[in-house]
Formats: sequence, structure tokens, C-alpha cells
Amino acid sequence: MITEFRDRETAKKACDRIKEIAKNLDHAKIMHVCGTHEDTITRYGIRSLLPENVEVISGPGCPVCVTTGREIDEAIALADKGLTVTTFGDMLKVPGSENSLEGVKAKGGDVRVVYSITDAARIAAENPDTDVVHIAIGFETTAPSTAAELKTAPGNFSVLCCHRTIPNAMDLLLSSGDVKVNGFIDPGHVSAIIGLGPYRPLTEKFNVPQVIAGFEPLDVLFGILLILEMMENGKAEVKNEYSRVVKDEGNPRALEIMNEVFQPCDVRWRGFPIIPGSGLELKEEFSQYDARKKFNIKVEDRGEPAGCRCGDILKGLIRPDECPIFGKGCAPDKPVGPCMVSSEGACAIAYKFNKNA
Ligand code: SF4
Repeated sequence: MITEFRDRETAKKACDRIKEIAKNLDHAKIMHVCGTHEDTITRYGIRSLLPENVEVISGPGCPVCVTTGREIDEAIALADKGLTVTTFGDMLKVPGSENSLEGVKAKGGDVRVVYSITDAARIAAENPDTDVVHIAIGFETTAPSTAAELKTAPGNFSVLCCHRTIPNAMDLLLSSGDVKVNGFIDPGHVSAIIGLGPYRPLTEKFNVPQVIAGFEPLDVLFGILLILEMMENGKAEVKNEYSRVVKDEGNPRALEIMNEVFQPCDVRWRGFPIIPGSGLELKEEFSQYDARKKFNIKVEDRGEPAGCRCGDILKGLIRPDECPIFGKGCAPDKPVGPCMVSSEGACAIAYKFNKNA
């Protein structure tokens, strides 16, 4: 624990300053795009410290949640073919159109939980006669690990590539006008890889202040404060509150290896239409590791489960407790949507801490 980022007196001073600035503002809607930020905000009751006209909402920042039902169905189709499918634990219970990976496993499918893609590739190396497919999800934070692994992976290994990139989704949100966002708290982990550069076009295009923030309570409070200060001064910039980790240029080595292996593609996000250039697909040189091509899986897009409002959660249109089935028809032991499954999902976090989020 970094105690200096939990100091009460400093937090009080930041809150006092936030309240002072808010008096001169009409309304400030600040969106974060990171499940870990949602955890910090809810766990520490940060919303309860803010004045009524300063609202912090969650956006499409949970990698499991933005993965579509169709991608879950693709993973299930691969397991149904008798292949060994490896996945992070959070994906197991996410409902597809008719089943989940957990359901496939219960019926004898070879679905294995791994902690990293390296573990998945090791399973392939140790079982050369078995085809192993890893469900590669996540943003710019996890994509470099996938890329690095594929450079030395055995021939019986492949990935169902579901990686996405965050700034394109922020652009679509602002362009669509569905939700009016006055400022973004940018994700610390993603920013450690991409740096500040990819956010700047958004600020130039939409005049929206952004602050890259860390994950301690004071990081988030300072992020909010810096956004409000920019709003007060009529400025819009990309600021870096998390400079102890995030460098302006990001992580050049990680970016290089990502660019070597992936190219941008158009992809749908849960609750969103196709977002141009927001996905990562394998370049031709790495196509032997592309499970979609290797096993020729074709799965229909059946949309999201009936009654599921996860798309609206991910677009910042509703809070978890505004979904009619939150805590009733949908709970962690019987999830309807991924936002109740993933530890980074807004509904799971709200349910866990029993707070309005
Ligand atoms: S309560 Fe369930 S169905 Fe509703 S938005 Fe949350 S996860 Fe989705």
C-alpha cells in the first residue's frame, strides 16, 4: 500500500478544492474507462465525497465486459470442436447465446483457466499432439504479452484474438453524442503502454480535458480535481497524474512488438456498433496463430442476452442499480451479462460493495 496516496488530510484538501470549483460549474460528467478505477471509486466511496453536480461514470473499460456475445460463442465453438481452450478465469461464466465456457467445461470440454498467455503456450508445448487455443482479450495492457508470446509459440498454439484499443472507443463515444462527457480519467495501465500521444487528438477534436490517473484513492481524486481545474480555466489538455508509472512516450518496446504482430481492424464492442480501427488482428506473417482462420469457425452474431443492459453500462448511460434486474434476476451466482461476472465489471463491483455505483 502506498500510504501517501491515502492520506486523509490531503484527501480532505482535494475534496474542499473540488467543491470550491464545482460551485462555479453547471454540471461536470467525468468518465473513466478502466475497471480498476471503478473498483477504487466504489471501494473507497469516492462518489459520496463529491458535490452533486460532479458525476463520475464508468465507460467501456472492462476488457471482459466489452467482449461480445459472438466472441464468447466463438470460444465455445472452438471448445465444442474438441480443442483445448485456455482462458482467464473472469471469462468462464460470461454467458454466450446458449452456453458459457463454464457450461462447456461442465459437460467435459477441455477448458482450462490460466493466469497468463505464457501458461497457455506452455500447455501447448507440453502437449504437442493437442491444439491449444487461448482466448486473447484485453486492451493495450495485455496485447504486448500476446504479441511477445506469438513470436516463439509452438505450432499447435493459436489465439482467438479479441484485443481492443481504448482511444478509438473514446472517440466513438464523443462522436456519437449519446452521452455528454466533460472530461476523461484515462486508464493508468493502458497509458503505461501507449503514453500520452494517442489521447491528444481527442482533446484537440472534442476540446475535452483528460487526466491519466493511478489507482490509489488520492490518484483518482487528483484526477477529478485536475479535470475540474481545466474546466474552470476553459482549458483542455492531456495531463499525467500517474507520472510515477506513465511516461509521455509510453513503453516503446511494448509498442514495437505490438506493431510487429498486430494491425488495427474494425470490431464491434458490446453495446457499441463497429468501431473503426479499434480492434487488433494478427498480421499475415502470424496468421498461422489465428484460431479463426486455422479452424475456420463461423459463428452468427446473435446480439446480447435479452434484458441485458450491459451495453448501456459500458456507454455510461445507466448506473448498475438502474438496470431493472440488478441484484434480482442478475447476480454474481446467476449473471445475465458480463458486467456482473468480471471482477472489473461495474455491476459486480457495485454488488460487492453494496453501493450505488
Ligand atoms: S445487472 Fe446484469 S444484465 Fe443488468 S447491466 Fe448489470 S450485468 Fe448487465
